[in-house]
Amino acid sequence: MVQVDIDIAKCTGCAHCRDVCPVNVFELRPASEVPDVVDDPAIAAKFQFRGEKSLAVHGPECIVCEACLFECEGECILITDDEHNVHFSVYK
Ligand code: SF4
Ligand code: SF4
Repeated sequence: MVQVDIDIAKCTGCAHCRDVCPVNVFELRPASEVPDVVDDPAIAAKFQFRGEKSLAVHGPECIVCEACLFECEGECILITDDEHNVHFSVYK
């Protein structure tokens, strides 16, 4: 089963992942509903945090198209495929 992980402290809430994912893996939730998360200062220096966080609510549906990995401005998505290969976010 494919596993989609998000380093939630780095998630800016940009929603790019949700917008590009063809199988609706991601949902955005208010950051206030995600407990004990402190925004990453290194990401804050580059991007605006928008008050939401992305959750991979349908991670097992991922088809490893990698679209989200190139659109994630926080570079915080990590996907482990069926063969245990790990795919990292690289923002353009
Ligand atoms: S790699 Fe997976 S989670 Fe990312 S956009 Fe493609 S299907 Fe969605
Ligand atoms: S693309 Fe990355 S930074 Fe933007 S909402 Fe999704 S996980 Fe968060």
